[in-house]
Amino acid sequence: MYIQRRLSDSLSTIRGLRFGTVCKEKSSHRYRATVGIGGNVGDVKRRFEHLFNYLKRDKRVELLKTSLILKNPPFGFVDQDDFFNSIIVLKTSMQPILFLDYLMRLEKKFARKRSFANAPRTLDLDIIFFDNRIINKPKLQVPHNEWSKRESVLIPLTDIYR
Ligand code: ADP
Ligand code: MG
Repeated sequence: MYIQRRLSDSLSTIRGLRFGTVCKEKSSHRYRATVGIGGNVGDVKRRFEHLFNYLKRDKRVELLKTSLILKNPPFGFVDQDDFFNSIIVLKTSMQPILFLDYLMRLEKKFARKRSFANAPRTLDLDIIFFDNRIINKPKLQVPHNEWSKRESVLIPLTDIYR
């Protein structure tokens, strides 16, 4: 059950039972992470629901909020299907690098194959913010390098903090 709204010729927003909702206000975990999720292969909305259910059951994280889903055209390599993007805010006690490894394992679990930059993907999980930290490691930059340039992050983000 989804409610779709057209924003422009190329953009539309989608609300569902699990996306565009508040889950919890409080949690005993230490850090607050804002995670961007995206994909454009197969039934992405359904995969998001599976991810949501998985995260909900996993004690290592606690979901606080989910944004609406944004359907938007690909960039970089443009000869591929539209992307679906959303934002999840959650709490965790994992340190940032461990949390990144955790997300990479989840990408694998949801059958992500790495091929080339900006290639089609089943599930992409990016750390957008991690508390108010600034991290500049070879394998992890936080805030995410591109967050303020991407509609796919900005539109879901404004929905989260509406
Ligand atoms: P992209 O998300 O840019 O399309 P990938 O998902 O293939 O590309 O990520 C490539 C690498 O980006 C990952 O292996 C990871 O080490 C690195 N990376 C750096 N900063 C972040 C971040 N904030 N969130 C997720 N991955 C990051
Ligand atoms: Mg990524």
